[in-house]
Amino acid sequence: MSTLVLKFGGTSMADPARIRKAAEKVAAEVKRGHKVVVAVSAMAGVTNQLVEYCRAIAEIYDPSEYDVVAASGEQVTSGLMAMALQQLGVEAESLQGWQIPITTTSAHEKARIDNIDTEKLKSYFKRKVVPVVPGFQGVTRDGRITTLGRGGSDTSAVALAAALKADRCDIYTDVDGVYTSDPRLVKKARKIPSIAYEEMLELASLGAKILQTRSVELAMNYNVPVQVLSSFGDAVGSDMPGTLLKAEDEMMEKQLVTGLAHSRDEAKITLTAMADRPGISAAVFGPLAEANINVDMIVQGASQDGDAADMTFTVPRADLPRTLEALNKNQDKIGFKRIISSADVAKVSVVGVGMRSHAGVAQMMFKALADKGINIQAIATSEIKISVLIEESYTELALRSLHKVYGLDS
Ligand code: ADP
Ligand code: ASP
Ligand code: MG
Repeated sequence: MSTLVLKFGGTSMADPARIRKAAEKVAAEVKRGHKVVVAVSAMAGVTNQLVEYCRAIAEIYDPSEYDVVAASGEQVTSGLMAMALQQLGVEAESLQGWQIPITTTSAHEKARIDNIDTEKLKSYFKRKVVPVVPGFQGVTRDGRITTLGRGGSDTSAVALAAALKADRCDIYTDVDGVYTSDPRLVKKARKIPSIAYEEMLELASLGAKILQTRSVELAMNYNVPVQVLSSFGDAVGSDMPGTLLKAEDEMMEKQLVTGLAHSRDEAKITLTAMADRPGISAAVFGPLAEANINVDMIVQGASQDGDAADMTFTVPRADLPRTLEALNKNQDKIGFKRIISSADVAKVSVVGVGMRSHAGVAQMMFKALADKGINIQAIATSEIKISVLIEESYTELALRSLHKVYGLDS
């Protein structure tokens, strides 16, 4: 008998028929004798709608009230899932985040989980009742409702699994596993049978929206076996049909490149003709850090305007207006001539633990892009990833070419 956390994403909860289908998977695992906790997302599209309501009422809204609104989508599906289970003869009861409680920081809209009290959940196991927990939700120490950032139900599920020391966390979604690239963009993408936590962490943080980055971080830190699988087919998690996340040293074969990720959530800024002196980076990035803006890729080179230095860097696209404002306000202090900005860029990345021990991976990437006439505007590397910034319209072409060059095509 295992303890399992089963998470169902928005498409798996999109309507009553899908909820019934998801409930059947839960019932099948219960029938096999497993102790099960269910975590659910809101119905597909509902969270977007709730966020729109907030924006329609107030352009700049109170984040703690945003959380009250946004968290409601999961309350609905937790109740519906409990009902669907009861219809199948499985005793089930919904428990909201504050009832467990799942205690979080007070950083509304992007709270982090501090603690999950497992006592109540365990008492449900004793009574043979399946607890159905809304994902995405938490509560601050002083009782305010919080949410964990978009896509946060994955994190709820993995955190529940870690707290309960569960044997596995199954993430049911609309694809049957983690693919070598987003299957919506790269038709020849292949399902990966197993992937190292480190690789999944890079892919997620570089834009593969299949799992929230924070959930992978938690899984890695607490060694939670996580499986990504489809809620549409007939298989259940215990048959292991999906992609399993596991520790790198458990991987039999270390791929040079395991997968590709892309992100269109990028904007590029160039400051021209800056004095090339000590302290210049601190002068540029200090005001951005103060404004809570995350800077990603950074390149410095000879200037287009005279003989000083140009600095190019990227920020999240949504933060571009705020970034420009912060830089313009500090123009005299920083000392640059012009700001050139563009939101017409995308970041494409290749990831694989095999890169640790092999040279030449980057060169293959640069050549493949050059062969297609794609200009590289910035580069960032780590031990197991290489990212390049390119013109957004070339994203799909770049992904398909790289997919082929690294032998990932099915
Ligand atoms: P859920 O609502 O179940 O949380 P998401 O939409 O958050 O589902 O995540 C599933 C989607 O992630 C897929 O439909 C797919 O388009 C996208 N995706 C991006 N990169 C990958 C990848 N490497 N492998 C599989 N799916 C990916
Ligand atoms: N419903 C939330 C969202 O759409 C959380 C989730 O689905 O993971 O972001
Ligand atoms: Mg998701």
